[in-house]
Amino acid sequence: MGTPVRSLRHASAAPELSIDLAAVGANTRKFVSLARGEVMAVVKADGFGHGLGDVARTAVANGATWIGVTSLAEGVLVRESGVDVPVLSWLNPVDVDVHTAVRYGIDLSVPSLEHLAAVEHGPVRVHLQLDTGLARDGAAPETWLALMSAARKAEIAGKVSVVGVMGHLPCADTPGANAPGRRALLRGAEMARQAGLRPSVRHLAATSAALTDPSAHLDVVRIGAGLVGIDPSGTTRLHSALRYTAPVVQVRRVAAGTGVGYGHTYVADRATTLALLPVGYADGLPRAASGRAEVWLAGRRRKVAGLVSMDQVVVDVGDDAVAQGDEAVVFGPGDEGEPTVRDWAEWAGTIPHEIVTGIGPRVRRNVR
Ligand SMILES: *Cc1c(COP(=O)(O)O)cnc(C)c1O
Repeated sequence: MGTPVRSLRHASAAPELSIDLAAVGANTRKFVSLARGEVMAVVKADGFGHGLGDVARTAVANGATWIGVTSLAEGVLVRESGVDVPVLSWLNPVDVDVHTAVRYGIDLSVPSLEHLAAVEHGPVRVHLQLDTGLARDGAAPETWLALMSAARKAEIAGKVSVVGVMGHLPCADTPGANAPGRRALLRGAEMARQAGLRPSVRHLAATSAALTDPSAHLDVVRIGAGLVGIDPSGTTRLHSALRYTAPVVQVRRVAAGTGVGYGHTYVADRATTLALLPVGYADGLPRAASGRAEVWLAGRRRKVAGLVSMDQVVVDVGDDAVAQGDEAVVFGPGDEGEPTVRDWAEWAGTIPHEIVTGIGPRVRRNVR
């Protein structure tokens, strides 16, 4: 079957990730209204793939009063995006550049005596970080008492100003599982007071606990996933901000028995039409979703045929009419039946967070 090249009227010229900041704004307002205290917008990993500066500015414009990031370098990007609320960076090596933190007005977490000792010139604003159950970042509970007295000495010496005490919950998606972490943090904050410290904020909860456990809210909730429409607790409908499209770049008719893609993991069981999309695992379509994944094309969901390649996928459209330049929707909010980020995560055996933070750099971003 010959396939004429149709007019490109309805076409998108290149793969594109469209980012709806109004959705981020609406999600932010939801957390601001439900939080018992303040909201820290977590914009690590390029704002969960939605644009660090755009998400930070949108969140602050909609009521967030803190920004949280992982690395100091991300904190600098937040400042350079024009945000002037307090910014906290919570995962840095011992030799983190404290001068940069002070110059840009970025708070640092302190998870160990070694991190504290590395602060030679201050004062830098710090949040003492307690491991409240992940055995990951944060001070081991048995080191906390020593960290408190050292922090008090460093404060008196003018090297640090202790503004916060923080923890993180290990099992917040499980109802009723937060009590040990909450108790640990409250006890840790009390020990800080007994050491003479006067942290103004205690913070523990991220998206799941913010949505399901007001007793864990304390003074600030740190919201990342929820801002971009991901609810790991499965309790709340948030607004998805992404729509990922790609143009059909080639269409071919193939005979029954044709093997598709590397390894011929898909073999057409009838004569069919195949549409080629120029997006692959380098562009964030997980290869592990091969065999289950679908895209929206020509009015309905269609199976991705064969393995997801690095740069391309093939879509089986049966006997339906599809032309070069037609737009496929990889995922979107789901309102019109298109796959969602959550669908892709399920097909790949992962969580939505990994999908949104994995869209490759060559996908054009279009911020709305
Ligand atoms: C990523 C992160 C958050 C945000 O978690 P979400 O579940 O995405 O809201 C909060 N706190 C810490 C320490 C984090 O690393």
